[in-house]
Amino acid sequence: MEVQEVELVMSAVSPTQYPTTGFPEIGLVGRSNVGKSSLTNVLINRRSYARTSSQPGKTRTLNFYEVEHQLYFVDVPGYGYAKVSKQERAKFGTMIETYLTQRQTLQGVIQLIDGRHAPSDDDVSMYQWLQYYDIPTLIVATKIDKVKPGVRNRQVSLINKTLALKQSNTELILFSAQTKLGKDDVWQWIENQIGG
Ligand code: GDP
Repeated sequence: MEVQEVELVMSAVSPTQYPTTGFPEIGLVGRSNVGKSSLTNVLINRRSYARTSSQPGKTRTLNFYEVEHQLYFVDVPGYGYAKVSKQERAKFGTMIETYLTQRQTLQGVIQLIDGRHAPSDDDVSMYQWLQYYDIPTLIVATKIDKVKPGVRNRQVSLINKTLALKQSNTELILFSAQTKLGKDDVWQWIENQIGG
């Protein structure tokens, strides 16, 4: 999809605030700083549309970006906060959980993981949770330009194994916001999900 128009139409904390147009939605999840804003910016051909977070974990709303009056990218705030209270964390977890389990128009979730490392425990939990709820998931390994080409296969094996991706036929795409490697493949997956 060649994107010309993107607009942040809503920052929601509860279902009553979700958009009602019925456009299909793709959720984006991952821990803070994994490169979610950067991926979004590459997908929509902007240098800086989605805010690049200067304070990790600050954004605690579901941000609905309307793309080409056809679909929404929903930025689901990053998991794995060290600094917030248990109570705050629980409230925040409920917001994410409500969205991911109850949103009828959600067609799939892109889970971002840092391509330089093994998936963290939080990454594994998130992925297992998405599987448990049968949510179509794409794993995108970010910052892959920082991984030498000769080592990438090893990273792919490690990610496949740690998340047990083969068992559920989950696709893994290596991505770089710098070189734009993987951009077309990510779009292809999105278009398949939304039936375009
Ligand atoms: P977010 O918190 O998940 O939205 O992460 P950002 O998109 O703000 O990225 C966090 C940091 O990682 C920033 O300094 C980005 O420039 C950097 N970053 C993101 N994606 C890439 C990538 O593909 N390659 C490299 N080298 N750096 C990246």
